[in-house]
Amino acid sequence: MSTAPAPQNLSLVARDLGVVWHPCTQMHDHETIPMLAIERAEGAWLHATDGRRYLDAVSSWWTNVFGHRHPRIVAGLKDQLDRLDHIMLAGMTHEPAVSLAEKLIEVAPAGLSRVFYADNGSSAVEVALKMSFHYWRNQGRPARTRFIALSGGYHGETIGALSVTDVALYRATYAPLLFAPILAPSPDAYLGAIGESARDHAARRLLDMRALLQRHAHEVAAIIIEPLVQCAGGMRMHHADYVRGLRALCDEFSVHLIADEIAVGFGRTGSLFACEQASITPDFLCLSKGLTGGTLPLSAVLTNDAVHAAFYAEYSAGKAFLHSHSYTGNALACRAALETLAIFNEQPVLASNRTLSAHLGKRLAALADHANVADVRQTGMIAAVELVRDRRTREEFPAAERRGLRVYLHGLERGVILRPLGNVVYFMPPYCVSTAEIDLMVDAAIEGIERAVA
Ligand SMILES: *Cc1c(COP(=O)(O)O)cnc(C)c1O
Repeated sequence: MSTAPAPQNLSLVARDLGVVWHPCTQMHDHETIPMLAIERAEGAWLHATDGRRYLDAVSSWWTNVFGHRHPRIVAGLKDQLDRLDHIMLAGMTHEPAVSLAEKLIEVAPAGLSRVFYADNGSSAVEVALKMSFHYWRNQGRPARTRFIALSGGYHGETIGALSVTDVALYRATYAPLLFAPILAPSPDAYLGAIGESARDHAARRLLDMRALLQRHAHEVAAIIIEPLVQCAGGMRMHHADYVRGLRALCDEFSVHLIADEIAVGFGRTGSLFACEQASITPDFLCLSKGLTGGTLPLSAVLTNDAVHAAFYAEYSAGKAFLHSHSYTGNALACRAALETLAIFNEQPVLASNRTLSAHLGKRLAALADHANVADVRQTGMIAAVELVRDRRTREEFPAAERRGLRVYLHGLERGVILRPLGNVVYFMPPYCVSTAEIDLMVDAAIEGIERAVA
């Protein structure tokens, strides 16, 4: 089935397959699926050791917002390396950690005033879950031990983050190890009734949420959501009304709202943060991925004064949040994040993205009536195409047929990295792509889809 070119540099690939265990990969697949050996990256392009180049249409797992090796980030990191590499953040501080916290608070939704650092997205989710739980404990409400999560949501793959994730592919095997969240039905517009608008579906799902809260609020610490787009669950999109309504319900029932913007933050959905489109402030805002422009691992959890105050007491009161990671607030990563925010501040990133996303939407409109496409959806710089066996019945292709993999392999032939989520072909390019590069990426996907459904 593999028609993609075999990489020339067999030695690197052979060495890799001898020692490296890759993420999200059945290693046996690499008996037939080529492993790309990348030696250099620039802008939206990855250069392989065999001389071929590939357009990074998924921004290296959604991390790389401005393209690879952005000169401003590279220069900042080189400068930072000459000053301070890494120190532990307990008992000490440094300029990048403080400046970044100040700048994040400045650009984040109003009311977020405290920044807790970690070093990857899942850890940020762990921090938010633990902080919310611990807040209620410190407030004398120890019965609030549960979380409400949405069906189809994804929050990472460490045990706590996976517990509030509802993607069977990642969760099912480990279910015996996980705690059980209260699962609320997703406001995903695709799952609305026939003829029901995204807005009406959102309103209906808010009624479900109200019913859940009426029953469970006394035992719930927080609701966790990916605002506007449930990404790893298949780029499922919902109306901003849902996020707005959820904030109101959380206020009414005194439950925290955790906004996991690890994937949708930093301009992806058309605003710097997705929550802005609902004009709300969550109690916890989780950030990672685009935070460093895709250069270094870093995450942050922003919260408010009320939460911070619930932990602030004499040491003997035993109220401190003692969570820690060795690389918390790494100076290099914080510096990369500062340069990333500076680019947003100095360049018309969101305006230029509007032009790019309009072009992407126009090109994808060609697929809207395809017999094997049930849905073409887009929110800002995220677009997705839902492949099905029959668009009228929405009958799905069995996962075992791995149709999306065929799209991936065709993409490689055309020099484009597409990495469908099951039968959902999606586009999440770095913001430096040109309209011609968008054309290439869409052309490769359309051809790949034709082959995949044949
Ligand atoms: C990627 C992702 C995570 C997990 O981040 P990692 O850095 O991969 O651990 C959590 N939540 C969302 C919404 C994500 O997209």
